[in-house]
Amino acid sequence: MPDWTRDGKLRAGWAFVVLALAFALTFGSVVLWLAHDQQRVVETAMRLQDQTMPEIVRHQRLSRNLEQLRQEGERVYAVATPQARQQALFVVTLVASHPSILDHPEARELARRVERFLSDAVRDAGSDDAKLMESYPEWQRLAARLGVLVDDVYIQGVNQAGGDLKDVLQAMEMARVKLFGAMLLVGIFLGVFLWLLHRHLIRPLQRIDRVLSRLHVDCPRPEFHDRQMAEIVSVERAIGELHDALRHNEAARQALENLANLDGLTGLTNRRCFLLQAEHELQRAQRYLRPIAVGMADLDYFKRLNDTYGHAAGDAVLRAFAVLVQESLRQTDLICRYGGEEFVFLFPESTVAEAEVLAERLRSRCADYDIRLPDERVVRVTVSIGLADAGQGSIESALKLADAALYTAKRQGRNRVVRADARPSGRPEHAEPDRQDIDQAE
Ligand code: GH3
Ligand code: MG
Ligand code: MG
Repeated sequence: MPDWTRDGKLRAGWAFVVLALAFALTFGSVVLWLAHDQQRVVETAMRLQDQTMPEIVRHQRLSRNLEQLRQEGERVYAVATPQARQQALFVVTLVASHPSILDHPEARELARRVERFLSDAVRDAGSDDAKLMESYPEWQRLAARLGVLVDDVYIQGVNQAGGDLKDVLQAMEMARVKLFGAMLLVGIFLGVFLWLLHRHLIRPLQRIDRVLSRLHVDCPRPEFHDRQMAEIVSVERAIGELHDALRHNEAARQALENLANLDGLTGLTNRRCFLLQAEHELQRAQRYLRPIAVGMADLDYFKRLNDTYGHAAGDAVLRAFAVLVQESLRQTDLICRYGGEEFVFLFPESTVAEAEVLAERLRSRCADYDIRLPDERVVRVTVSIGLADAGQGSIESALKLADAALYTAKRQGRNRVVRADARPSGRPEHAEPDRQDIDQAE
């Protein structure tokens, strides 16, 4: 038993075989049907040639002979001499025994009567013309019957030919109607076939082509409907799986990329990624002689915070600080968790003075920012920031300068912004060099 379906769907191969068989059957039947009519035409034409035509000729000969019989009979009365009458009577006898008349029963019977009547009339009259003419009315009746028979025989022949011709015409007309019907049938079949082909093969293929050309991880999983053919369903299912695999790979790639580039705790760029991006930005700025600055920030007394509130609280503070940095700096600034509680920033298109404004904003916001710990307690933390120009040299040398400025900020009492090339700035009004920067709000 052939496997017609797969997963409840009809296999396209089998569908094609079934359709091809149906078409072959339909077409074969139509051809046979037409051939039958064609045969009928041929047979009728042959009959017309082999039987009807000789029959018509026979009828024509018979009617001609009967007509001659009538004329010769008429001559028997018309001629003037007994010899001529005998001659006419002889011809009557001759014609009456013609095979065409002998073969036709009615003609044979009438011819015998005519022959007998004329022989008797001539014999009885002898050489008396007046006596002969007495039998003339009777002869006229016989002649009239001969005339009717001539017409009948003639019409019979014509009718026979007409009947056969009508048969041929009928068969040909029937063949024409059937041919038209057959063409209509084949047309309908082809129409249905093409429609099925389009609905179940072409259209799904076009849909698959469209989906494949737009297949992307960001697109929703392609959905296919009105599935009929097993092979099409397989391809559509494979496309769905391909899309899933793409998404899965993209998610894995994204996770790996995050792992490689982002800091797991804060979600900020990590040191490796920052150095790569910063190098690129530095090259661009230095090539086009654009200002660029770098900053290094370190949370103050972070060890103490850890010791006081625990490591988890320290982590929460680092996360909160990361959010604050992102809110305080510009979209175009690069922000990185450099390690521990140290962060670095790159300020493209900014002089150190412009970067100082941003850093100072961050510092002051941080100092006033209440950070809620996981245990609902609230703490504040301050940050020291060192800034340096990165317009020359490498990112490492710029960071070194920023680190030195940061060190200065620490030394000068923390919670401040210090430029590598300038006097420290942003010192808060109440800042004390040994002030405890970690306050519990409550
Ligand atoms: P200073 O003001 O001079 O910077 O003092 P500090 O205590 O902040 O400096 P120090 O370098 O002594 O301490 C840094 C601390 O940061 C030590 C370490 O326990 C803590 N730390 C580093 N990384 C993490 C982290 O991922 N999570 C937490 N909770 N703490 C961290
Ligand atoms: Mg530190
Ligand atoms: Mg610190």
